[in-house]
Amino acid sequence: MSAIILDGNKLAKISEESIKQRVGVLSEKGIRPTLATVLVGNDPASETYVKMKRNTCSRVGMESIAIELPESTSTEELLKTIKDLNNDNDIHGILLQHPVPSQIDERLCFDAIDIDKDVDGVTCLGFGNMSMGIDAYGSCTPAGIIRLIEHYKINVEGLNSVVVGRSPILGKPMAMMLLNLNSTVTICHSRTKNLDAIIKNADLIVGAVGIPKFIKTNWIKKNAIVIDAGYHPEKCGDIELDNIEEVASAYTPVPGGVGPMTINTLILQTLQSAEKSVK
Ligand code: NAP
Repeated sequence: MSAIILDGNKLAKISEESIKQRVGVLSEKGIRPTLATVLVGNDPASETYVKMKRNTCSRVGMESIAIELPESTSTEELLKTIKDLNNDNDIHGILLQHPVPSQIDERLCFDAIDIDKDVDGVTCLGFGNMSMGIDAYGSCTPAGIIRLIEHYKINVEGLNSVVVGRSPILGKPMAMMLLNLNSTVTICHSRTKNLDAIIKNADLIVGAVGIPKFIKTNWIKKNAIVIDAGYHPEKCGDIELDNIEEVASAYTPVPGGVGPMTINTLILQTLQSAEKSVK
């Protein structure tokens, strides 16, 4: 049996077509879904990510408003910017690009985003609601992974899922989303012992470590589902995928797996926020 490629590029394209149609319906009602992107400082990678997100907005007919703040911005200044965006009825979603310069209290600023505009799923309240199964915008990378898994009709119920990484935007929400789908979840991190043995027992693995090719192919059980959230300049992820089709039953390629789903989920959630504003 050959491995299924969980093709994020393909699903994101299909989704963009349906988003475009829904944007058209809203525009007939005089509403243009609008995402505000907030970029603090001059980190080249962050600049690229924000540009990609804004380009996707324009491709589907949505508006994006770019707010660029200097490297020296204080927490208070950023909080004021977020407050203004919260109060602006023409803004449906706010993206505060992570990471912000170190003098800023990033958590405080994330949590200042109005829950109804938290389309990137970064607030503690949104995380708590999502974890409790209450309607909330999920953190975009894990939510995009779940959409990809569901599109390919993979049922995670009862599977032993291992999430490697516990960051607030990726590993933790990923684990909660899999738990909510009745998977049996193990979360691993930098202090985990015998990681290879834990992974060898996994039916589904999510690599969210931030180290190129950290998880080795020979740690992976035959027929496991392999999700690689990592992306590095060498065009590889956090999992060694070289011969993965000989081992996995399904896997996300890098690039073209998880990445496109992250951006697509942000755009989709901004659209959903605009649709809710009509109701
Ligand atoms: P992060 O905040 O740096 O978190 C990395 C996690 O990996 C931490 O929880 C850390 O554990 C764990 N870790 C580090 N070394 C480890 C080790 N030796 N063994 C086991 N666990 C270890 O990174 P992130 O933001 O979650 O991102 C993770 C990856 O996803 C990166 O490759 C990033 O580029 C990628 N990413 C992709 C997208 C996308 O759209 N495709 C979006 C976001 C991130 P501790 O908590 O113990 O330190």
